[in-house]
Amino acid sequence: MMSARPESIDSEPCEFSLDPQNWEAFRNLAHRALDDAIDSLENVRQQPVWQPVPPAARNHLNEDVPAEGIGLEQTYEQFRQWIFPYPTGNIHPRFWGWVHGTGTAGGMIAEVLAAAMNSNCGGRDHGALYVERTVLEWCKQIFGFPVDAGGLLVSGTSMANLIALTVARNAKSGGNIRQSGLLGSQPRLVAYASAEAHESVAKAMEILGLGNRSLRRIAVTRDFRIDLDQLRRAIAEDRENGLQPFCVIGSAGTVNTGAVDDLQAVADICRSNDLWFHVDGAFGALGVLSPEVLPLLKGIEQADSIAFDFHKWMYVQYDCGCVLVRDGKRHGETFCTRPNYLQRLDRGLAGGGTWFCDYGPELSRNFRALKVWFTLKQFGTAQLGRMIAQNCHQARYLAASIRDLPDLELLVEPTLNIVCFRFVDASLSKEQTDDLNCTIVAELQEKGIAAPSTTTVNGKLAIRVAITNHRSRREDFSLLLVNVVQFGKQLLVAA
Ligand SMILES: *Cc1c(COP(=O)(O)O)cnc(C)c1O
Repeated sequence: MMSARPESIDSEPCEFSLDPQNWEAFRNLAHRALDDAIDSLENVRQQPVWQPVPPAARNHLNEDVPAEGIGLEQTYEQFRQWIFPYPTGNIHPRFWGWVHGTGTAGGMIAEVLAAAMNSNCGGRDHGALYVERTVLEWCKQIFGFPVDAGGLLVSGTSMANLIALTVARNAKSGGNIRQSGLLGSQPRLVAYASAEAHESVAKAMEILGLGNRSLRRIAVTRDFRIDLDQLRRAIAEDRENGLQPFCVIGSAGTVNTGAVDDLQAVADICRSNDLWFHVDGAFGALGVLSPEVLPLLKGIEQADSIAFDFHKWMYVQYDCGCVLVRDGKRHGETFCTRPNYLQRLDRGLAGGGTWFCDYGPELSRNFRALKVWFTLKQFGTAQLGRMIAQNCHQARYLAASIRDLPDLELLVEPTLNIVCFRFVDASLSKEQTDDLNCTIVAELQEKGIAAPSTTTVNGKLAIRVAITNHRSRREDFSLLLVNVVQFGKQLLVAA
């Protein structure tokens, strides 16, 4: 039988917590860590852009799960030794590979503070949610979306595309996909995007059960924008064949060349065909912040949904993307569930209006909004727009410098912030040219000089420079070209 007091005071269990036993010692370590972090940013220009993780570090990290801890001090020392020196490199002024944002010093502070609050942003009534709502309101203002639009901060544009296409699929299918799945929805749903659209769109189609083949890859014109005539024809043909077109995905900044589809024309095609108009604007969409870039994006304000990243062209720390859905009600209807353990109340912590778990697949969510809020408050949209314009000017400067150098070939005239070029020599075959340029990029990265990436443009292997970097200066691009030419010539001699 249980007694009222099962244990005497003497046998009180020895309870512990995971907090520091000595807060003063913790404070000292934390200040040291923060100083190290600040040093790493302040001195980043003097560091190699990238260096491979050496075998010693790899071996060290490849250990069995520790049954006994070594304490914070030693853990931190191991971090300093084995992890800290080997970042991706995108904090460096000469990192231009793929599309990697730089992050900011202020964003780092926001991350520390968000970790201290450790908010769960799935829902309930607390400060973080008001910040996320505000950030989403700002996004609606930035893109000219209505106040009752839906939105959610997510890990990135891959997730944002998936969420937007889920809403589009459910809205346009006619059937009740949430209850019946795709079996209940005939005929087959098909979507359209340019051949240059990002693979995350195809991945979303696969995850949604629609299949990769149901994404029609429409050919592009010579400037890498979706061919509108072919788009119209494909929609008409699919209709004639008994399929159900439901969505067009316009690209605002393609990953290969930074091309922007004619979004106004795509919007018109969607309207006259009753199709969902989604824009993948992972990096390019935020071009609207620059009065110079804005005209290129005309039509984006008519989208039914937009996916974009803060961690690319707003320089916010990884990870943070966003999806906006014009019809906020539809957005909620796609994901909202109300199990009894998530009951909403009028008062207390379970109140507070919108719960973000109703707008996407995730229930527990971190406080991503804080670093976005910090960035927008610290700099404002005007300065961020000027930084975006500066990156575009740098792309044009780089393109002009490439045109002036006889050993280099500019493969595409940059529209935004992406430059594709290559080293050429009359003695080289096509394959040799491709191989040599691949080698040049690997050399640049391994020597820690610069980190462009590669892609293929019109069948030619390209050295690709995507500038979403607020630390780059013109001298950095000049240094890149000097080294490309030098490595190219050295490799020619060695061949
Ligand atoms: C980067 C990118 C994506 C994917 O975004 P993540 O944030 O990496 O998930 C999608 N589309 C385009 C055009 C991109 O550049």
